[in-house]
Amino acid sequence: MLLPDTKRILLKLSGEVLMGEQDFGIDTDYVMRLAEEVKAAKDTGLEICLVIGGGNIFRGMAGAAQGMDRAQADYMGMLATVMNALAMQSALEQLGVHTRVQSAIQMDQVCEPVIRRRAERHLEKGRIVIFAAGVGAPYFTTDSGAALRAAEMRCDALLKGTSVDGVYSADPKRDPDAKRFDTVTYDKVLADNLKVMDASAVALCRDNEIPIVVFSIRQRGNVARVLEGKGVQTIVQKD
Ligand code: UDP
Repeated sequence: MLLPDTKRILLKLSGEVLMGEQDFGIDTDYVMRLAEEVKAAKDTGLEICLVIGGGNIFRGMAGAAQGMDRAQADYMGMLATVMNALAMQSALEQLGVHTRVQSAIQMDQVCEPVIRRRAERHLEKGRIVIFAAGVGAPYFTTDSGAALRAAEMRCDALLKGTSVDGVYSADPKRDPDAKRFDTVTYDKVLADNLKVMDASAVALCRDNEIPIVVFSIRQRGNVARVLEGKGVQTIVQKD
């Protein structure tokens, strides 16, 4: 096991991985493949909370750059995360995995509101809880939403599945000398502004001592492989 005594994890998937090979939106075949990954992790006996970004559909910063009001654009981004959560719920249910979506923006006809005790009960019953709409406030990201839910649901670790296989000393696409860390401290990530998650998310994990495991979700079978300790990843931790 990568992290011994881990019973409950929060898995954060960037919205962009839902695009598959597309440039935008949701590739349903690829979402099904991701759902298989999530199911494999669940089949190891873990309790799973899931947070999915919205970058494949809309990012507030992009809207603001084009002249939109930032807060307004951020609310659009939050709605995008709800769409992704519903797509993932649908894929997981096709695989026979029971799920509930809880949104930080209330949408009674579509999903439940975030209610921590209810989420606990879902996990007890073996359901996966997909937390949508981040923290429910503009000027945040789904990374912060993931850190917040990981803390309040007392998750043993936050796994961030993204397009790169860990945290690097520099951008590996631009700098051939960039090296991947096996482990790195929260403080180094913050001091050196390493690209992991936004600073508020890292600080929340640091203050609650939640290890962050960064790994590539693009390789098939990687969630289970990383959890077994046989994968490639970076662990952000205290020391
Ligand atoms: N967002 C927000 N508050 C939150 C979570 C998300 O305003 O608590 C908005 C923000 O505009 C963000 C967008 O939703 O750009 C999509 O989320 P994010 O960029 O985190 O998605 P990812 O990069 O993980 O795909």
